[in-house]
Amino acid sequence: MAHSIPFVNLQAQYQAYKNEIDSALQSVLDSSSYIMGESVRELEVNLANYCGAKYARAISSGTDALLVALMALGIKSGDEVITTPFTFIATAEMIALLGAKPVFVDIDESYNIDPSKIESAITNKTKAIIPVSLYGLPCDMDRINEIASKYNLAVIEDACQSFGATYKGKKSCNLSTIGVTSFFPSKPLGCYGDGGAIFCNDSNLDSKIASILNHGQVGRYMHKMIGLNARLDSIQCAILNVKLRYFDKEIAKRVEIARIYSQNLANLVLPQVPDSKMSVFAQYSVYSTKLERSQILESLQEKGIPTAVHYPLPLHLQGCMAYLGYKRGDFPMSEKIADSIFSLPFSAFLSNDEQRYIIDNLNEITK
Ligand SMILES: *Cc1c(COP(=O)(O)O)cnc(C)c1O
Repeated sequence: MAHSIPFVNLQAQYQAYKNEIDSALQSVLDSSSYIMGESVRELEVNLANYCGAKYARAISSGTDALLVALMALGIKSGDEVITTPFTFIATAEMIALLGAKPVFVDIDESYNIDPSKIESAITNKTKAIIPVSLYGLPCDMDRINEIASKYNLAVIEDACQSFGATYKGKKSCNLSTIGVTSFFPSKPLGCYGDGGAIFCNDSNLDSKIASILNHGQVGRYMHKMIGLNARLDSIQCAILNVKLRYFDKEIAKRVEIARIYSQNLANLVLPQVPDSKMSVFAQYSVYSTKLERSQILESLQEKGIPTAVHYPLPLHLQGCMAYLGYKRGDFPMSEKIADSIFSLPFSAFLSNDEQRYIIDNLNEITK
């Protein structure tokens, strides 16, 4: 076992649902309706219902979901969009791709954007805020939405890691102007390739989103706007329709596995989940205040325990963002966490024995 703990056990998950997934795939093959087939519409209805949002659109990836959301809101060259530097590159990358300027605001102890620092970053060019619900924990959306409405800004929740999580009883993805998520295989709800979704509650916005992700089409070969080919394949939607049926059970398992880590790990700073939120733990991430990360990860590797670092370099220090002129020291919390955080093996299919082995070794290494 020591040499075979998967970081995310996708194989065990497939084996658990194999019959249903295989037959869902077969029915797409039998229909030959690979693009915008029946499973796509079915998934969109299922996703909207699941999140309690009026509208959901399946889309080719979380990255494309961010891009389409920004395009649908009319974000363009010269605009500013506020976001966190402690996230996956796609969040700021799509702002920059449109010629708009990512404006970073540091995180707090929750690893999400610090709402108390947002207001001072707003200028007359600011058009939107993209809070990221990192590691599966929703942001403080009430505070962020309040600031946004005061300055008439849109809010796009980057919920690429938090599909299924809740904030004050409401589902992530349905907490702001637009919510976007990813179905990358290792995300809490993953497909078998790239995939994502966009959520909103405004019919005009939804029509724009639907059109932009399909070449700006408004009728067959009638193109009102410049758009993309960002459709999600029927095959991926068919897989997601099956996996969504088991998703709440998987979330319960994830919460239980996180609880076991949290109750048994000593000597590490552990993820905190306030009562108003439920995290889906896209990552279970920890750090030590005493030992160097590299030392811990090396020792874990010797024991056959895989780890990952989400993320080792904050976005304001990335080469592709150098033109923004930020420097080390600008966002101390993001920099500190990027230097120390690491993620443990985690999925609904992590076995009790595997978890026990990880906990025992980690406690020994950090004692
Ligand atoms: C995964 C992820 C994305 C991008 O999603 P893809 O489906 O891989 O394009 C964007 N933002 C965050 C926070 C993510 O974790």
